[in-house]
Amino acid sequence: MKRTIKDIDVKGKKVLLRLDFNVPMNTKTGHITDKTRIMESLATINYLCEQGSKVIICSHLGRPNGARDDKYSLAPVASELQKLVKSKVTFATDTVGEDAKSKIKAMDDGEIVVLENLRFDAREEENDEGFSKELASLADIYVNDAFGTCHRKHASTYGVARLLPNAIGFLISKELKVISRILSNPDRPLVAVLGGAKIKDKIPVIENLLDKADTILIGGGMAYTFLKAEGGKVGKSLVDEEKIDMVKSFLEKSKNSRAELVLPVDNVCNVDFDSKLKPKKFASMAIGDEYMGLDIGPKTIKLFKSYIKRAGTVVWNGPMGVFENPLYARGTNKIAKYVAKSKGFSFVGGGDSASAVVKSGYGKMIDHLSTGGGASLALLEGKSLPGVDVISEVQEEDKLSKNE
Ligand code: AMP
Repeated sequence: MKRTIKDIDVKGKKVLLRLDFNVPMNTKTGHITDKTRIMESLATINYLCEQGSKVIICSHLGRPNGARDDKYSLAPVASELQKLVKSKVTFATDTVGEDAKSKIKAMDDGEIVVLENLRFDAREEENDEGFSKELASLADIYVNDAFGTCHRKHASTYGVARLLPNAIGFLISKELKVISRILSNPDRPLVAVLGGAKIKDKIPVIENLLDKADTILIGGGMAYTFLKAEGGKVGKSLVDEEKIDMVKSFLEKSKNSRAELVLPVDNVCNVDFDSKLKPKKFASMAIGDEYMGLDIGPKTIKLFKSYIKRAGTVVWNGPMGVFENPLYARGTNKIAKYVAKSKGFSFVGGGDSASAVVKSGYGKMIDHLSTGGGASLALLEGKSLPGVDVISEVQEEDKLSKNE
């Protein structure tokens, strides 16, 4: 078990808290369009403030490519945070420079300083030792609660953690518990719904789930590589030719695995992505030469629904079609609804499926909406996360020193 903030004494200590404040923002006005990530960090922030820690928050925002770029400043996030917490919030205009140091020096217990965007310094993504040391010099304890970046080995997620006593926050702790339960002891049947376009990202997940899940429903662009590997006619649909042989051997392997692999039986198609023609439906193995599959069809929606309805646990990652276009969003929206309404435990990986579920209005009905797309996929693949690996295991001494 990894050490959490409840296992260590944080009273009066300077805590460097790595959060995921990479919020969607209108970079012209600084208006935050979705505050979910800030809201989800509040439990850890408030706990530390109530314990009397000096809370030094650091995060990245966007892709400023290692140089200062004011449109990616965390200043608007710090202002927003001040509206949501009782503690005083101060913003430092740099990360490890003079402003950060003097503002940290002036802090009282229970106060917060938000540092400027970590990625304004190229050394962050390089996991540079010097930068890690400078970050470590700001605090007594390091806490990571940025689940969305735990799969990255950066200075603020990895390097600095090796230099200070460390722990994870409530958000990461919950994510780990939920995914570990899904992989080790789920309520059955365990149904995984996988979609999206990048087959190479999802293959390791399918592979890991073959002996863990009871059913794997495959939709989205990646389904066409599977259908082609099975000898189907897929027209101009997205196919990863290089992966065909791999997928063939994989389909073979799945015959002896626990999980049944279920592919779409019909598809909503068109001649290209933005054609003005009316979409046409084709059976999966017989898509017209000039057509490409852009969404799962009504028979597939019904078929997938029947599995999701019976699930004890349902895990969803990746859209069922080109859902950005309303003409091909039906499959994704219906799956969002069925996953949300499922009586079983529902888990939705981050990214497109999470935003589809929120957009469809069913977000609140999902038992666990993961805050990290890449990180949750890595865990579902059976990989560990560098940002979690580096955190110490909970030890007897932790409990003793906390009770002193
Ligand atoms: P991924 O990042 O691999 O989860 O893929 C997400 C993307 O897959 C979305 O932008 C969708 O538009 C795209 N996608 C889903 N279904 C299809 C499809 N049938 N053909 C092409 N792209 C698709």
